[in-house]
Parts: sequence; C-alpha cells; structure tokens
Amino acid sequence: MIPRYLFSLELDQLPSFEADFLIIGSGIAGLFTAYKAREHGSVLILTKQRAEDSNTEMAQGGIAAAIDETDSPILHLEDTLAAGAGLCDPRAVEILVTEGPVRVMELVELGVRFDREGGAWALGREGAHRRRRILHASDATGEEIARALIRECRGAQNITLKEDCFLVDFLREPRTGRCAGALVLDTATGGFMVCRAGAVIVATGGAGQLYQNTTNPAVATGDGMAAAYRAGAELMDMEFVQFHPTALALASAPRFLISEAVRGEGAFLRNVKGERFMLKFHELAELAPRDIVSRAIVLEMEKTGADHVYLDLFHLDRDRFRARFPNIWRTCRRYGLDLAQGYIPVAPAAHYIMGGIKTNTEGETNIPGLYACGEVACNGVHGANRLASNSLLEGLVLGARAAAAGSRYLQRVGRQLPQLPPRLTGKSNVNLDPEGSLWKRISDRVRTLMWEKVGIIRTGQALAEAAAAFSELENKISSYVPSREAIETANLLTLGRLAAVAAWLRTESRGGHFRKDFPARDDLFWPRHLIFQI
Ligand SMILES: Cc1cc2nc3c(=O)[nH]c(=O)nc-3n(C[C@H](O)[C@H](O)[C@H](O)COP(=O)(O)OP(=O)(O)OC[C@H]3O[C@@H](n4cnc5c(N)ncnc54)[C@H](O)[C@@H]3O)c2cc1C
Repeated sequence: MIPRYLFSLELDQLPSFEADFLIIGSGIAGLFTAYKAREHGSVLILTKQRAEDSNTEMAQGGIAAAIDETDSPILHLEDTLAAGAGLCDPRAVEILVTEGPVRVMELVELGVRFDREGGAWALGREGAHRRRRILHASDATGEEIARALIRECRGAQNITLKEDCFLVDFLREPRTGRCAGALVLDTATGGFMVCRAGAVIVATGGAGQLYQNTTNPAVATGDGMAAAYRAGAELMDMEFVQFHPTALALASAPRFLISEAVRGEGAFLRNVKGERFMLKFHELAELAPRDIVSRAIVLEMEKTGADHVYLDLFHLDRDRFRARFPNIWRTCRRYGLDLAQGYIPVAPAAHYIMGGIKTNTEGETNIPGLYACGEVACNGVHGANRLASNSLLEGLVLGARAAAAGSRYLQRVGRQLPQLPPRLTGKSNVNLDPEGSLWKRISDRVRTLMWEKVGIIRTGQALAEAAAAFSELENKISSYVPSREAIETANLLTLGRLAAVAAWLRTESRGGHFRKDFPARDDLFWPRHLIFQI
C-alpha cells in the first residue's frame, strides 16, 4: 500500500510561497502555460534542476503543424488517429491539429527560429505522417524552443522561476478536496517548503527513467504522475509506452536519439548482415509507425544475435546530411563514430509515455484546482501511440488551454488561497540509509525489471512477475528520506507497478503495447481505457 503522502510533517513550520498559478516543470508545457497564465495573475514556476533540464531541451525532429498549402488539419487528424490505434479522443485530436498552427506561430513571434528554405518554412517528414509538416530548427528544435521560452519567462514581470525545487506531493484542502498547492523539497538546502496557489498546473513531463535503456534525461522520473496519483488523481493508459526504434547503440555512450527525421530523409535500416529488413514488415518500410519499427529491430537483433542494427546513410548526400543534422553528426563523432562511413549502430530505447494524469481537453483533472498538460497528462491526443512530433505541439495547445481553464477557475472561486491540511501523515521519517545506496539499488532494479518484463515485447507471465516484484518492494519500504533519489525511487516504483498491472490486464496488442501471448488487436473488448485511482 502506498501512503497518501510520503512524509509525516507539520506544515505550519515550513517556509511558504504563494502565487495565483503554481506551475511545476520547465519544459515546453510548463513554460508555455506560464507565458499564457501571466496575463491572469502571478505565476510561480518550480523545476527540479536547471530550467534547461527537460525532455523538451532534447527534442530533435521538430514540431508538427499543418501549415503547408498541400496539407490540412484534417490530414494531420487522420494520421494522428491512425497512429493512436483506436484509443484517441477525436475531439482532443481535432483541437490539437486545428489550434496547433496558431500556437506554433506564437512561438515564432516569441523569437523561435525554425529553419526556412528560400522564403518558406523548411518542413520535414517523419514516420506515419503523410505530408511534410514538421517545423524544425536544425536537429535541435527543442533547445531552440526552450531558449526562447525560458528567456521570455525569466524576463516576465509576473513570473518567478525557481530552480532546484522538487515537487514531492500535492496538498489538498481538507474540507473541499481542492488542490491547495504542493510540498516541495529544496534540493540545494535539503529543506522542505510549501507552495500555495489558487490553480496548480503540473507539467513535469514523462517517465522514461522507468527503463534501463532510455532516450530521456535524468529528470524524467514521472514525479508529477506519481504525486498526483497519491493525491487521488486518476492515471490512464499507463501500459502504453513508446520505444524509439533508433537510439545510438554504443557501449561507451548514452542512448542518444538518432531522430526519425534521419529515416524521413531516406536512411535505411539494415541488420548486422547488411540486409534491409523493414520492407518485409510494413508497406511504409523505415517510415512505419514506431512500435512496428521497434519490434522489427528487436526481432532482427534476436535473429542475428546482435545488440544493434544499423542506420545506413551511405546512399545519402553526406554534406546535406551533415548540414541538416549537425547535432547528430557532432555527437556521433564525439563517441568515435565517423558518419562519413555511412553507418550508425542503433537499437530501441524507451522514449515517451502515452499514459499519465487523466484530463479533459481543458487540462482539468478529477481534483478541483489541479491541471495537467504535456507529457505528464493523458488527454486523448495520443491514444495508444503518439504520432512523431505531436508531443511538443501538445505541450503548446493543451498548455494554453490549461492556462485559460485555470484562469476561469480563479474567476469563479475567487483569489483567496485554499486552506492547507494542518499536517501530513505519511511513512515515518527516520533516515535508515544515510548513504542513499538503497534507493539507487531499488531504482536500478525497477529499471531492469521494466526493460526485461514490461518492455517492447511482453507476456502475461513476465508482467505478473514484474507487478509482484514492485508490490513487494513497495511494501518493504517503511520510511522515506527527504532526498531527491529516495522520492524518485518511490515514484518509479509506483509507476512501474501501475504500468505492469495495466499491461497485464490488457490482453491484446495495440499501439505501444505488444503482448506476445495476445498478438492481435481486439476491437470487440479492448477499445477502452484502464484508469487507476486511490
Ligand atoms: C531525445 C528526445 C527527442 C525528442 N524529440 C521530439 C521531437 O522532435 N518532437 C516532439 O514533438 N517530441 C519529441 N520528444 C518528446 C518531447 O520532447 C516531450 O514529450 C516534450 O518535450 C514534453 O514536454 P513537457 O513540457 O511535458 O515535459 P519536459 O520537457 O520533460 O519538462 C518537464 C519538466 O518538469 C521538471 N520536473 C520533473 N519532475 C519534477 C519534480 N518532481 N519537481 C519539479 N520539476 C520537475 C523537469 O525537470 C522538466 O523541467 C523527444 C523526446 C526526447 C527524450
């Protein structure tokens, strides 16, 4: 059993900060929400490391928007629904694709420099998009967007951005259940503090760190999802995880992403015997949906006994490639790979979680006053599988809507801050593990179990074993310590268990969820969502 709160604390002893809007997370979703909310009140953004540490910063390929005259939001909608494999909310997707172009142009007004070719936008193409509709800034699109948004938020009078502030738990007003703010750990001092607000927006991103092999940075430990779950929020679609087919596979290097845009530019996939294998798996070959490409790569690696396949650029114009993907070129060279040879060793890695805090299209959760947007949220735009380059767009479109909904909420309920609970009752607070090695051991175990048993190809037995192992570990922990590592471990354990249980319950294969023992999609029983709540 997991407690409602991780720690037992008297709140009135703690330093307290207040704002109209409390936004947690400094990726595209948090920053854009803050930018929109600042017109309606004071905004406090908290982020657990530096403002730049986020998945957003690492996004390479770009941001999808139907802006070309040969394209239309309807085509973008159809591609998104097809990738989502029957589990998208069509209304949410319609909002995404119709409001997307306007929001993207707002980024341009804010100073984001997307690449141009002549007078027009240089549009890329990625897997399962039938049109070129990806705006990009070289192969470092996220960095460019983050740069502009962080500058904007740091410069805005009504916004305060605090780094090294780690969300621990959400606080709820005892009488009404309304979200009253958050318990936060100042990781620079090790002390707790309380942040109170009229509207709380969680934008803490995904949970790629659940897996041993991941493209995500260290901050992506799913804290917002786990804290919201402890607070009573509904989590949905936790079984749907997208594995990126092509992360750099070198023993000496992190799983650096080799963007799908590389295949969009014409690179082939070959197994270690040199065979181009995607043609036998899907009519779109290398540009098939990511789940299909990832599974195909796993099968080829099994067949050849290798731990990687190759991206073959040999037939591409190397100068053009280098100019289009300077970041990839540089990073490969840093790890001793000469791309002039035309081959990059790659293997799949965890990349994006479709599931998260259940919201409607206004970003509202089931907890009054608590909103969620970006990768932490599950609002129906991605269904069982995210279409490439739709997640940055989601951060913008749903972020703007969450800011608007939060501001309407404040108008309705008034600016007086909700009451805090007088004390929190969680597990005891004794530091049983001063070195912190216990937490590292547990989180490593979670990551390995997730990779081996809740990974790209799943079976009922392996999923049941993983879920049982996570429950046992959760039950064994009698106390937490106020350290980032301990809290992240608690969060990974909870989310790992939910993902394993959801994947075990879903006895079919769909989108990012593949069961070897139930390989077919079951449209009679399973066009439904799994929702968890305590
Ligand atoms: C390598 C890579 C490449 C990608 N390429 C693309 C692409 O080309 N196009 C695309 O659309 N998508 C891409 N994605 C996905 C996309 O980057 C993310 O889905 C998107 O950036 C999520 O934005 P976000 O604001 O929701 O979360 P993030 O950008 O991850 O931001 C979350 C923020 O919350 C903070 N945070 C987390 N936990 C806490 C806590 N406990 N307390 C306080 N703060 C916390 C983090 O530090 C971070 O600042 C890519 C992802 C990766 C990893």
